[in-house]
Amino acid sequence: MGKKVMVLAEAKDGKLRNVSFEALTVAHKLAAGGEVVAALIGNGGSAHAEAISKYGPSKLYVAEDEALAVYTPDAYVQTLLQLVQDISPDVILMGHTAISKEVAPRVAARLGLGLLTDCTAIEDSEGSVSFDRPIYAGKAFQKRGFQEGGIFATLRANNFQPVENPVQTQIVPFQPEIKDIRTIVKEIVRKTAGGVDLSEAKIIISGGRGVKSAEGFAVLKELADVLGGAVGASRGACDAGYCHYAMQIGQTGKVVTPDLYIACGISGAIQHLAGMSNSKCIVAINKDPEAPIFQVADYGIVGDLFEVVPLLTSEFQNV
Ligand code: FAD
Repeated sequence: MGKKVMVLAEAKDGKLRNVSFEALTVAHKLAAGGEVVAALIGNGGSAHAEAISKYGPSKLYVAEDEALAVYTPDAYVQTLLQLVQDISPDVILMGHTAISKEVAPRVAARLGLGLLTDCTAIEDSEGSVSFDRPIYAGKAFQKRGFQEGGIFATLRANNFQPVENPVQTQIVPFQPEIKDIRTIVKEIVRKTAGGVDLSEAKIIISGGRGVKSAEGFAVLKELADVLGGAVGASRGACDAGYCHYAMQIGQTGKVVTPDLYIACGISGAIQHLAGMSNSKCIVAINKDPEAPIFQVADYGIVGDLFEVVPLLTSEFQNV
């Protein structure tokens, strides 16, 4: 029998996150002919109905309330709980994002459900669903499943190919009851990596201590702009003050899985690899031929990044 699968979609800066489309695609697989519904928490959600309907949910629940004007964990947890109680899904899927890291465990605990986070692959063999997820900072993967009760999982961005499946999606307005908010958001100070969102970027140009200065990162930004990518950094570069910690990739930074990761002046410490070693294609530029980054790189360029990166930029400009 088919399952009822609910996807909590997420919008950022007025745009739906791509991982929401990935989750909807996975949802259809797991539903196996059952029903797929989507939900969006936050005001103005119905503006995303057209984009969401391309990925086939029969309904889009739009939860709106003045308490949802800005994100707070209390309001989101209460709303998601009420949505789950109303929809009663067999499976709940979300992207593995900053919000889901905060909200999903709280909701799972309140519902008495198991939760598998940061899943990178899902297999459904005759109704028995297993999830792959990284452990030990990405050095190994475990395969996990659920013995009983509902399935609740968060998915790592860029690991599932979104497939369009357009339908007429019915919009269902949802009024949550929100009380006892313990957090007041007084000000939002944006410190972003700029332009393309790092965690969902298909191309990342990343710099390390070898970039030597904040000004040096302008060379990487030029290449990123030409390729339509985002700029990331090692912790070495962030600690040195060359860039903001929002750009840090690694064990204590962001985990990314782009199609192309170009590491410039990054040695390849294990903590950095934890955040990028699952990238589909890794190019390393380093003047030290013994740098450990070359062990995980698909293509290695031994040379000075200040010579190599501008050459790449001008080559790609002419493509
Ligand atoms: P370095 O190791 O100093 O490497 C610089 C590289 O640049 C060298 O290989 C050098 O050959 C090359 N180079 C220099 N000049 C040039 C040039 N002109 N052209 C080309 N190449 C050049 N690190 C992270 O990145 N992310 C994390 O999340 C993270 N979390 C951590 C958590 C813990 C608990 C700990 C202990 C450490 C963590 N680290 C993390 C730090 C990590 O161990 C390394 O110190 C850090 O990744 C090194 O940064 P780097 O490669 O930029 O610098």
